Amino acid sequence: MKVPITKVELDEREVEAAAAVLRSGWVMQGPQVEAFERAVAAYVGSRDAVAVSSGTAALHLALLALGVGAGDEVIVPSLSFIASANVVLYCGATPVFADVDPDTYNIDPAHVKRAMTSRTKAVMPVDQVGLPADLGPLMDLAREQGVPVVEDAACALGATYRGARVGSIAPVSCFSFHPRKVITTGEGGLITTDDVALAARVRSLRSHGASRSTFEREKGGGADVFADLGYNFRMTDLQAAIGVEQMKKLDGLIARRRALAERYNAAFAAVPALHLPTAPPDRTHIYQTYMVRVTPRARHSRDETVAALQALGIGAKAGVQAIHTEPLYRERAAGVSLPGTEQVAREGLILPLFPSMTEAEQAHVIDGVMATLGGR
Ligand SMILES: *Cc1c(COP(=O)(O)O)cnc(C)c1O
Repeated sequence: MKVPITKVELDEREVEAAAAVLRSGWVMQGPQVEAFERAVAAYVGSRDAVAVSSGTAALHLALLALGVGAGDEVIVPSLSFIASANVVLYCGATPVFADVDPDTYNIDPAHVKRAMTSRTKAVMPVDQVGLPADLGPLMDLAREQGVPVVEDAACALGATYRGARVGSIAPVSCFSFHPRKVITTGEGGLITTDDVALAARVRSLRSHGASRSTFEREKGGGADVFADLGYNFRMTDLQAAIGVEQMKKLDGLIARRRALAERYNAAFAAVPALHLPTAPPDRTHIYQTYMVRVTPRARHSRDETVAALQALGIGAKAGVQAIHTEPLYRERAAGVSLPGTEQVAREGLILPLFPSMTEAEQAHVIDGVMATLGGR
């Protein structure tokens, strides 16, 4: 049996929504994008939402709209997808890496505090693989310093922290709709915020810095005014129409992910070689990814485990990377030591998890893991 690491399934409603946009002839940014923005803002509980072309574009424009530029520092975890640090470089600023807690894989507020300097312009926690970062202490620290928290919530749409949904807590939160995320628009991203002036700046920056939207421009006369250097980071109506349908299914998709993760947790509870994902009681994990750690007590290293599972047809892979050890950052991060990050990067193992996973598929993964790492 072959079990892929992830699988995207779009049903007839998404196909029909996309077809309706194609039939209408209006495939660029327009009413579907606005509907998608309203749906996400209503779901998370934010005043505004701005859809863009990717999660990376969302983070990039959020930092630009907050005035991050040359000479500034942004504190980010090194344990993340490379884009989390790249967006800081796009702005001409310097990413300052903070360590993570090897239990939750999330950025450690005590380490963020030590990384603060007079040049810190923003703190950018990542909600790691679907578990919100410890936003309370992080926002307190940022407030003391007078800087915003820009939350990389790419993996965490629908997750909660102290009873509130991610996207309604930090001053700015950024989501991704890449096919690896909880819902998808093919490619896509979005920022949520209560700051309508900030949202307006992001709206302008996503469309060349123009004074009005594509929709307004196409509908009427008048002229554009370009005050700022912007980009073409627009989402299209074709993508947003799929997103509107995906939003209707979000709670069901999350419930399914959580049930599958709980089944893994129960099956692996007695395996001393594995460190299982943990969610502190004040937050919910939506398991965008199911990542365990293969501890030094295991019979096999993480890489040997990946190879053994792959040989059984199981789409396992190494976990989240440490950005500071990638060639692009090695020189920039010379002398940086992040023991928690390096441990998780060395031991992290991602197992298949997707909402349509069958009981037989999951049993095959569990059997493979037990055969490779079970016992003492
Ligand atoms: C996926 C992801 C991104 C980038 O999102 P894209 O939509 O692929 O550009 C950024 N940060 C994290 C933590 C991610 O998982």
